[in-house]
Amino acid sequence: VAAVEFDRVSFGYPNAGPVLHEVSFTIPYGTRTALVGPSGAGKSTLLALVERFYEPTGGRLRVGGVDLRDLPRDRLRGQLGYVEQEAPVLAGTLRENLLLTAPTATEEQLLAVLAEVDLTRLVQRTPLGLDAQVGEGGVLLSGGERQRLAIARTLLANPPILLLDEPTSNLDARSEAALRRAIDTVAADRTLLIVAHRLATVVDADQIVVLDGGRVVAVGPHAELTQSS
Ligand code: ADP
Ligand code: ADP
Repeated sequence: VAAVEFDRVSFGYPNAGPVLHEVSFTIPYGTRTALVGPSGAGKSTLLALVERFYEPTGGRLRVGGVDLRDLPRDRLRGQLGYVEQEAPVLAGTLRENLLLTAPTATEEQLLAVLAEVDLTRLVQRTPLGLDAQVGEGGVLLSGGERQRLAIARTLLANPPILLLDEPTSNLDARSEAALRRAIDTVAADRTLLIVAHRLATVVDADQIVVLDGGRVVAVGPHAELTQSS
């Protein structure tokens, strides 16, 4: 059974033309897939379908072997975690930001996920630790740190499959390297579908899906795709 399976999935927004055309690819459990393509190709729409935010207008979309239409929302939530591109940090403490997705998480669990994304420093930076204000007026976070905080928040729910929309901009070389390390750590024992804007993420993926005009124009490991073009 695959983690995610697109089987000739098509989709169009209401009152708009088709956006995805018979998209097919499979994401085996424990692997990393990078989704690339120009702006408007349909990458965000594709992620939104996996989240069941929209329903395909054609084809089958399965998560863990089950058609999404037959998968109750709470069971889907146990399978998937989603980290958006402009991950919001709430006005509040680090603790509040983390507990958003897992209100009953223990202090140990909070510290463990922060360590996974290499943000332990945030806790150590102030005497207030987890109760330091990270939202408005609090400890300032870089774009990369916000994204890693959002990843940590998602990890608390412990989903086997992670959907990740990489930030497109505002990452300096150090933030980028830190994000890449966090992704590597997180990917070690999970399944990842990443909308990839960075070459490193693309090259490191087990499989690259190239989307253009709502169609899959290439799929395979990096070496294979660079050979054939
Ligand atoms: P990106 O290339 O960064 O994904 P887009 O311009 O494609 O940015 O989309 C930005 C946001 O606006 C997305 O949430 C998308 O769903 C929404 N959006 C894009 N095009 C339309 C549209 N024609 N009508 C309504 N919402 C749209
Ligand atoms: P990408 O993430 O690759 O930039 P999107 O999935 O955001 O692409 O958009 C794919 C196409 O769907 C674009 O033509 C966009 O304008 C359109 N689109 C996105 N969101 C909406 C929406 N809510 N309503 C209508 N059209 C949309």
